[in-house]
Amino acid sequence: MTGAAPPDEVTRYDCQSCGACCSYSRDWPRLTLEDDAAIARISAEFRDDDSGRMRCEGDRCAALVGTVGVSTSCAIYAVRPEVCRACLPGDDACRIARERFGLG
Ligand code: SF4
Ligand code: SF4
Repeated sequence: MTGAAPPDEVTRYDCQSCGACCSYSRDWPRLTLEDDAAIARISAEFRDDDSGRMRCEGDRCAALVGTVGVSTSCAIYAVRPEVCRACLPGDDACRIARERFGLG
């Protein structure tokens, strides 16, 4: 989830009608950069502590609310993992995820 995005791409994609990067891979929402206090702020129901990442159902993060490509939100937005904060609309990871869901 890295890569800079040109300004026009940043404004073109709307995360609240997407959610593709939150449903792309169970390996993406990792909890490797957080300290214990930051992890503890995330409700245990959404964490997979044994795997060091967010709990997922298939490839979809358990904290994702809504329907991918229609309307989505993050149930733990204020305390979401650092990798989620680093993912920017229009960056490489964003484009890969959107492509899987046919979002172009
Ligand atoms: S894939 Fe891109 S547009 Fe979609 S939610 Fe993630 S960052 Fe936002
Ligand atoms: S924690 Fe939130 S932002 Fe991160 S993958 Fe899950 S739903 Fe998406």
